[in-house]
Amino acid sequence: MPHDHSHDDDHPHALLPPEPALRVKALQTILVGKGLVDPEAMEAILETYERKVGPHLGAQVVARAWVDPAFRGRLLADANAAMAELGIAGRQGEHVVAVENTAGTHNMVVCTLCSCYPWPLLGIPPAWYKSDAYRARAVREPRRVLAEFGVTLPEGTKVRVWDSTAEVRYLVVPMRPEGSEGLDLAALAALVTRDSMIGTGLAGAPA
Ligand code: FE
Repeated sequence: MPHDHSHDDDHPHALLPPEPALRVKALQTILVGKGLVDPEAMEAILETYERKVGPHLGAQVVARAWVDPAFRGRLLADANAAMAELGIAGRQGEHVVAVENTAGTHNMVVCTLCSCYPWPLLGIPPAWYKSDAYRARAVREPRRVLAEFGVTLPEGTKVRVWDSTAEVRYLVVPMRPEGSEGLDLAALAALVTRDSMIGTGLAGAPA
């Protein structure tokens, strides 16, 4: 599928102007001064992405998939329907595909042309995800990139790199760590890091 960039209008992009904070402040001042935006509405949006939406939501999905084989099956077959069961939906998450790590295959996600990312599950993408270096190298030398993130896979494990687009965002379902058998959902979710759901990390080991 060609990478369609018609979505860039409503999309955070790597090509930021210099001193973006100053430009944002200037724009905000003008828009509020002219009565074009409501400062309270703007605060509500910022609050949503700073506090309400974030990797803790993706972690709930993964933990549920670990303990509930039927949910796991639904997640892999139709991630949006499974997310909706947990009340998770929203912009930049319209078409999510869940890809599961196994002993044989490790999945890793990149957007080679910009920064497509499943916001409702993971929040706003980290700076490195949008960087030129990650976008170029994740495809060319994934094992080296993984090593830099502290992830070393067994020789026999294949690395599969998924290129996000405006149409499809990916969620990696990391492998459930050994020793986590007795844990409840909340304790399992606490092991699921943001990076483990991008594929640049592994789920944490139980304490
Ligand atoms: Fe993109």
